[in-house]
Amino acid sequence: MELALRGAASVVCSVVLGAGFGVAAAVGMGMPVMFDLAVMFGGVAGLLCSPALVFALWSGGWVVGVAAVALPTLAAAYVGGVLTPPNAGPFLSMGIAIPVYLATSIGRGFVARARDRAGRPGLCERCGYDLSGLRPRSGCPECGVKAGSTST
Ligand SMILES: [Zn+2]
Repeated sequence: MELALRGAASVVCSVVLGAGFGVAAAVGMGMPVMFDLAVMFGGVAGLLCSPALVFALWSGGWVVGVAAVALPTLAAAYVGGVLTPPNAGPFLSMGIAIPVYLATSIGRGFVARARDRAGRPGLCERCGYDLSGLRPRSGCPECGVKAGSTST
């Protein structure tokens, strides 16, 4: 249930972020008239790309995860807008922002998962006994080795 909520919140977050990226692109293009269109385009793009953000925010800190994805993408959308020739439409900006969004989301997802796993006792370093569910530093019940003591 909590995971479903997290997933749903990630989708909503992706739509809101997408709208924000659309505005950043419109600002970059110097076309404030296009704000409503930019919000709409961005929101749809955000919805389409939401699985990537669900992946990014599945584990790890929420705020850190959103910042890790939103800041580079915001910059990419703005730069894409600046580089867009007049009256060329939002496609160059979207073409830059969407790959950055997907790449940072997937990257963030892997980093958060790796941190999650490292913070939790996994397998005994010597005999491979599954230590999950045991108190950290209580030692392996199978061979008696303490976590981190096999390296010396
Ligand atoms: Zn062991």
